[in-house]
Amino acid sequence: MTDAFGREIYYLRLSVTERCNLRCRYCMPADGICKKSHEDMLTEDEMILAVEAAAALGFKKLRITGGEPLVKKNLLSICSRAAAVDGIEEICLTTNGTLLPHLAKPLREAGVSRVNISLDTLDREKYAYMTRRGALSSALAGIESAIDAGFTRIKINTVLIGGFNDNEICDLAALTVNYPVDVRFIELMPMDGSRGFDQAAMLPCETVLDRLPELKPIEAGDGVARLYRLPGARGNIGLISPVSRHFCAACNRIRLTADGKLRPCLHSSAEYSIKGLDFDGMVEQFQKAVLGKPMCHGELSAVKRSGAGRMMNRIGG
Ligand code: SAM
Ligand code: SF4
Repeated sequence: MTDAFGREIYYLRLSVTERCNLRCRYCMPADGICKKSHEDMLTEDEMILAVEAAAALGFKKLRITGGEPLVKKNLLSICSRAAAVDGIEEICLTTNGTLLPHLAKPLREAGVSRVNISLDTLDREKYAYMTRRGALSSALAGIESAIDAGFTRIKINTVLIGGFNDNEICDLAALTVNYPVDVRFIELMPMDGSRGFDQAAMLPCETVLDRLPELKPIEAGDGVARLYRLPGARGNIGLISPVSRHFCAACNRIRLTADGKLRPCLHSSAEYSIKGLDFDGMVEQFQKAVLGKPMCHGELSAVKRSGAGRMMNRIGG
């Protein structure tokens, strides 16, 4: 479907849960989230109806996210039913990877075609510090299991954090030489969850180019990353700069939160509820959300916070 500014919107990011087994310091509060009543959240049937409504409007790409999607009990059923929806060409999933060792194969069998795995450091203690409870070994085992399960074009998502992992840029980038994976550096966004981070933590992606002058630019696809490659590498390096270089003109997505709110823009609090609606009602809300998509997310910068009004785990990153 085309939005009011001529952009083709065909990519739905579906958050299947707000819950997570980690507590990353830039995303979630230390004590987690208030437990919501089941009735407030989308049911599996509503999620599938929403995917059908989106597909009827020309959406063809679906990303399953959260919170942590792998903690969702009926995740495999959601994925296989969504994969069977007419018009959906690709289902991708974003995860912290720690539960992938048990789930990588079943997810592939359920029709998930690609996975993105978040990993901000290769240091065991720093991983435990940033996630407040995770084990680096579980995340690394998750990456191995995704490779073993036959996933291709696996992407490692690394949030670039000044004073935390900028001294690991070369080591993280080297993963693309040693493994068949892409590594994407993402600028830390000034969201509600990242209030504890000061301006010095919000490094522009240009820092990666400064540290790795041997990076060669390659042609980008339809995504929002600028792509580069290290000599002899098996995968690409992507730079995603939501703060220093807004990519709103190329935006092709909307989000659906686990409690049934369509969000046309990550950094706006505007929402369109689909909870409890039938197919026609959902189609109508999708149309309103796409047509209500703002041209850009305004002034977002290292000093101007996002207007999202929700933590990332409650939107669907
Ligand atoms: N739990 C899954 C994971 O961590 O991959 C999926 C959900 S998580 C909200 C999706 C992505 O958002 C992760 O790659 C995470 O690092 C990123 N993220 C969360 N808060 C962020 C922030 N303030 N700035 C930049 N990226 C953020
Ligand atoms: Fe959980 Fe992902 Fe947020 Fe980390 S970034 S707390 S893994 S939802």
